Amino acid sequence: MTPIILAFCAFLSTLVGGLFALKNTDRLHRILGYTAGVILGVIAFDILPEIFRSLQELHIDPTAPMVALVIGFLVFHIIEKSILLHHSQEADYGDHHHQHVGIASALALSGHSFLDGVGIGLGFQVDAKVGIAVAIAVLAHDFSDGLNTVTLMLMHKNTNKRAKALLALDALAPILGAALTSLIHISDKGLLVYLGFFAGFLLYIGASEILPEAHSKHSSYGTIGLTVLGAAFMFVVTRFI
Ligand SMILES: [Zn+2]
Repeated sequence: MTPIILAFCAFLSTLVGGLFALKNTDRLHRILGYTAGVILGVIAFDILPEIFRSLQELHIDPTAPMVALVIGFLVFHIIEKSILLHHSQEADYGDHHHQHVGIASALALSGHSFLDGVGIGLGFQVDAKVGIAVAIAVLAHDFSDGLNTVTLMLMHKNTNKRAKALLALDALAPILGAALTSLIHISDKGLLVYLGFFAGFLLYIGASEILPEAHSKHSSYGTIGLTVLGAAFMFVVTRFI
């Protein structure tokens, strides 16, 4: 039950982010800077050490989880950029096309949010500690998922109404993902491969989506400092959980 409750929190976090996107304040960019640090901290101080510990215990070769890490990093990068490439090559780049890019990008984000939910669920299959660590990374950044969904939709000339519909889908996706994992059971090795994938996936989100967005309006030492603080905060938190 816990994964579903946490996925419900992810639902709320996404909604709040989406509503925030309608008024794009400076403070928001600071929050994103902090989030990027938290994500880096979760990967380095929790998910990766957990992978290394389990590899030793189970005497498994590290290649598969590390290949999964690279795939996790690249998969959304490829999907995102190919949506943009595909549409920018179309000669007639009218409003209609614009709207499609917005919808396709928002749907890719919903797919990612679905994986966030799967992440929480499978994290709890490893153990409660990993589940909570993954949930922290997901809850912290789902705020920016909601924000990105609305921004992408509006930027590509979709109506407010459509933006809200896609926001609702993106918010529901983690709950569906977490619910799905309660139906399946994965072997120890499978969980390690998945954790590697998820670490790569989070690394990409933190470094290539959230950090650039935190600095998109203007950079400040405040934002940089908050990123460092976010990573340090996770170092401290992971000493206790
Ligand atoms: Zn997410």
